[in-house]
Amino acid sequence: MKIHIAQIKEYDSIVIRQFMAEAADKDDLWQQLQDCHNILIKPNLLGPYPPSAAITTHPAVLESLILLLREHGKEVWLGDSPGGTNPVNRVWQATGIKDLAEKYSCQLLNFSSGNVRIIKQGNIEFSLTDYFWQADAIISVGKYKTHSLMYYTGAVKNLYGLIPGLKKSDYHKYYPDNASFSRVLASLYEICRQRFIYSFVDGIWGMEGEGPSAGIPRNFGTMFASLSAAALDWTAARMMGYDPGRISYLAATLQMDDLQPSDLEVEDKWRDFIFPDVKIKGISRLIKFLAHSPAFLKNSFRRIYRYYPDFNENCKLCGVCVTSCPVQAIRMEGTGSTPVIDYKTCIKCLCCHEVCPYHAVYIKKSLLAKFLIK
Ligand code: SF4
Ligand code: SF4
Repeated sequence: MKIHIAQIKEYDSIVIRQFMAEAADKDDLWQQLQDCHNILIKPNLLGPYPPSAAITTHPAVLESLILLLREHGKEVWLGDSPGGTNPVNRVWQATGIKDLAEKYSCQLLNFSSGNVRIIKQGNIEFSLTDYFWQADAIISVGKYKTHSLMYYTGAVKNLYGLIPGLKKSDYHKYYPDNASFSRVLASLYEICRQRFIYSFVDGIWGMEGEGPSAGIPRNFGTMFASLSAAALDWTAARMMGYDPGRISYLAATLQMDDLQPSDLEVEDKWRDFIFPDVKIKGISRLIKFLAHSPAFLKNSFRRIYRYYPDFNENCKLCGVCVTSCPVQAIRMEGTGSTPVIDYKTCIKCLCCHEVCPYHAVYIKKSLLAKFLIK
């Protein structure tokens, strides 16, 4: 399986389009899409963040793809379901996708308000936007970031946005930790594999540290493309400095695509390439420790390894964290009062950290957690 990687330092639409066109040609994409007319582009539009925050897929990347698809006579749909209860119109406006949809007269689809199809995979029931099934093919355009709960997000996790609105929070409620939520992502991928999906990941500006929304923007200067979202992620996570085999959902999805790490083909110059000093090192140590420890040690470890969300002075009292918390652990006692967390109810899913549009939720850590996750 080929993973195409290009060094692209800035958002230059011409260079991006050239990379996309070359990757598509090498993968015979146009041949595979010959009977497909309506193509759904699924970017990562997590919240109402400007493109400069490096949290959402950059509009220049989407513009290049729209032009390329139009060149090949395709009808383009753009759609997503942002995280939490952030108003969708604000997300469309802030991320630049509204302007883009207007400029190119593309349908802009809010997955939170359309019909859904319910599908069971194993013992997990999924509600997926009906647009996913109506489109003839899907092109996922994820963002290259660290993730506080899942460690890494790129192509596979981008598909989680196919689940409408607050239904996403329900899965966090019933599958709150990394291991159980990895099963959710892998099961969802198994469903998504029924459709034709091509993946790009925008790593021109990505994120390190406490991603997916409160980390530090970093100019990785890289774009990725592949016919396999799982293969793309395995390679991209490795280049971030992770051992991808220890990130459960990456290991599971690569297996679903019937691939081994040795089946992944990249140009020679990327084979052993790792971005220097990405802020994931602590997390990486933690994953290794948990993978190798017996259950009793893991349990003792969890008693001293503690992390929980708290608020800082950036809070604008918008209430998005309150309405997005899957277990209603956050309260605002009256008008103008700051939010308060009931830590007995909190399941540490970090949804509040992910959806706060003002970076007002940070992760408080015990000494050991501070040491492991810098
Ligand atoms: S922490 Fe404050 S600003 Fe952030 S979502 Fe909650 S209420 Fe809004
Ligand atoms: S307070 Fe935050 S971390 Fe805790 S359950 Fe609610 S959303 Fe999740």
